[in-house]
Amino acid sequence: MQGKIALEEHFAVTETQNPVAPKSLQADLLDFEAKRLEEMDLFGIEFAVLSLNAPAVQEVLDVEGAVALAQQTNDMLAEQVARHPSRFAGLGALPLQDPDAAITELHRCVNDLGFVGVNVNGFSQKEEEYSHLYYDLPEYRPFWAEVEKLGVPFYMHPRNPLTDHMPMYDGHPWLTYATWAFAMETSVHALRLMCSGLFDEHPDLQLILGHLGERIPFDLWRLDHRLEVDPKGVPAKKSIRHYMQNNVHVTTSGQFYDPPLHLTITEVGVDRVLFSVDYPFEPMKDGCEWFDHADLSDGDRKTIGRTNAIKLFGLPLSA
Ligand code: ZN
Repeated sequence: MQGKIALEEHFAVTETQNPVAPKSLQADLLDFEAKRLEEMDLFGIEFAVLSLNAPAVQEVLDVEGAVALAQQTNDMLAEQVARHPSRFAGLGALPLQDPDAAITELHRCVNDLGFVGVNVNGFSQKEEEYSHLYYDLPEYRPFWAEVEKLGVPFYMHPRNPLTDHMPMYDGHPWLTYATWAFAMETSVHALRLMCSGLFDEHPDLQLILGHLGERIPFDLWRLDHRLEVDPKGVPAKKSIRHYMQNNVHVTTSGQFYDPPLHLTITEVGVDRVLFSVDYPFEPMKDGCEWFDHADLSDGDRKTIGRTNAIKLFGLPLSA
């Protein structure tokens, strides 16, 4: 399919690179105009919404450092988008170590830099290494009110759990990161937001989850069933299904397989599923060749591959 739009596509700056990552991956993360655009042309991606790699800003312990890194990388991204406005848009990075600083940077991202949303890499660490700020905490409600008011989506991107949360992975490093730990970490964070009543208070908020919803669509019935049988005082007024169908969009990033795609469409609806690759952590070729031949009607392929992103981000592209 030509004209695809992808929205979980990453870049890095030197400060956010993982020094032990393969050199070719590091080079791909720094590149905007060479291999990236070439492969977009080759595999039919017309437009990419770019965001910083993980965990980046979220792992900076001191608030000033987190604010500075967010500003620096957002400015750099805005410059790259300005060079190719018909090919790129940006999702801003935010220093959620400090809700007020995050609000300030959110406004700058949307109003001054023209970004179409934000991408945050899971919980933030603040001051102490083993600290976890999850955004269902009450101090983040004013932040969410601003996100809702600005009408931009919030991409909740995975990060690896810290080692103090990792005893379950001891001796099994192959289960960490994208293999399994990313989805566990991110799905629990997203469920915390839903269960906290955040979307009852801010019904227009839109969250994006990658990787076909970080396993939540598969467990939707069981989640709601157990919350109904034994709610344990959950503050949320509605079902997880309701929030997944009204406040969450999911992307195909890194999940290039028909059965989970079909299940996700059944559970959240075709208007809430969006094509993405997760480049350069996944090859553009794999994501695109799978999607172009996935078992979908032409109408659904266009809805997922293009139209939903234009609507969600208000992109200046023809549907
Ligand atoms: Zn990603």
